[in-house]
Amino acid sequence: MNSRRSTGASDDMSQTKPPICVDIDNVIAKTDEVMRKVIRAHSRLHVDLAYEDVVCFEYWMCRDRAGRRFDKGEWAEIHRAFTDNHLLEILPFDNVTHHLKIISGRFDVHLATSRLDDGQEETRVWLSRHGIPYEKLHFVPEGTKHLIDEQFVAAIEDDREQGYAFYSKGICVFLLAHPWNTVGPHSPLKRVTDWEELTHELLNLPFRDNCHGIQ
Ligand SMILES: [Mg+2]
Repeated sequence: MNSRRSTGASDDMSQTKPPICVDIDNVIAKTDEVMRKVIRAHSRLHVDLAYEDVVCFEYWMCRDRAGRRFDKGEWAEIHRAFTDNHLLEILPFDNVTHHLKIISGRFDVHLATSRLDDGQEETRVWLSRHGIPYEKLHFVPEGTKHLIDEQFVAAIEDDREQGYAFYSKGICVFLLAHPWNTVGPHSPLKRVTDWEELTHELLNLPFRDNCHGIQ
């Protein structure tokens, strides 16, 4: 018998809540808006990406309306400028605190991010400033969230590849929809439009040891 809670009416708070892994950037935080501004200011060609232009997870692969993109080699400086000067400008998604509070009644919310180490303190400040509830905060290298030593039952991501890595471990994956994370009709990753839909899906998640086979 595992420790996961049933979906029944019992609300015994002494029972362990199953953990879920929630990404910060472009899931809780509207990071893309700020990042595109930083790219505009710091890329050599002042690449002016619109939201719809970001059809790849890697910004340097995306072209603006004029067909411009920046070189992969420029990314480190852009990412550094973003981390050093812009983290606190980012706004949370609408009502995300409200939804996370509801979700926290059923799950232990673990936040995971691949932000640069220098952004850790401001990330904590930002989470506190916006009243984001969470149980634990993980800083991990990009693409390694599925290796966090927790028995996550679900993960919420905007990075499709990270989503598939979670799924390979039997974890249910929800992608908050963005132009860069489209999936085919038979993908096991569940793409949701907004936090309202995400909360509904999470609260109705069937509890099993492995998410494979759940559609
Ligand atoms: Mg993200």
